[in-house]
Amino acid sequence: MHAFAVDGLPEIDAGDDLAALVAERADLTDGDVVCVASTVVSKAEGRTAALAEFTPGPRAEEIAARLADVTGEQKDPRFAQAVIEEATEVIMDAPFLLTETTCGHVGVNAGIDRSNTGGAELLLLPKRPAESAARIQAGLAADVGVVVTDTSGRPFRHGQRGVALGWAGLPAARDWRGETDRDGHELAVTVEAVVDELAATANLVSGEGDDGTPVVVVREFEFGDHDGSEQLFRAVDGDFVRQALRGWTFD
Ligand code: GDP
Ligand code: MN
Ligand code: MN
Repeated sequence: MHAFAVDGLPEIDAGDDLAALVAERADLTDGDVVCVASTVVSKAEGRTAALAEFTPGPRAEEIAARLADVTGEQKDPRFAQAVIEEATEVIMDAPFLLTETTCGHVGVNAGIDRSNTGGAELLLLPKRPAESAARIQAGLAADVGVVVTDTSGRPFRHGQRGVALGWAGLPAARDWRGETDRDGHELAVTVEAVVDELAATANLVSGEGDDGTPVVVVREFEFGDHDGSEQLFRAVDGDFVRQALRGWTFD
């Protein structure tokens, strides 16, 4: 397989037709996976915001004060309010805001970006990235998969990498269970998160700064002869790390 950026995309504005903009600049073939940075999906969907739109409630004031306390930096309660409003759950409120967002993704600050926002103060994640992916897919003539990506940190390791927020036209994962390894042992647990691996590949090509390459095409990726799985985000009752974090406080 190989991956290449779609060159020459303009600054994306609310109402832009991303599929059309991509189709004009890339000769897509059936089987391609089109990875689109959530940044431009959000811009196209008008998900920009100003801090003044968020009136901090008591919880946001409390969170901001506590964050300032533990980090020694002034925190804007309006930003805390934006995170609270975008999150379906605030899992940790110090020393940073670890949240779940509507699509099931767990990350810091509800994925709200303050860079590459096109001049807005805040760029919120797409509301329903799976629907965004399906819309982009429907707008492309070739039979492609679409993955909406974001750059995200992860626990246990330094650094960030690309993850999938929503996808269409391909399964989320390859289910290896029931297949055998080289020694003939049957695999019991391996479900490979393919859309995250594709998102990480795309992120590697996209860059994080001013490259201007939010769309990456992965060509000749073979899903192979595996069962597909739609599972990516853990349900809370099977997510023991999340359950442990819920009961934990920072001091
Ligand atoms: P995120 O990972 O989705 O949060 O997005 P990033 O801020 O890391 O941006 C990913 C890539 O898209 C980088 O190459 C940016 O320079 C590029 N980018 C962001 N916004 C735009 C835009 O409106 N137009 C173009 N052409 N590139 C953009
Ligand atoms: Mn982002
Ligand atoms: Mn990024």
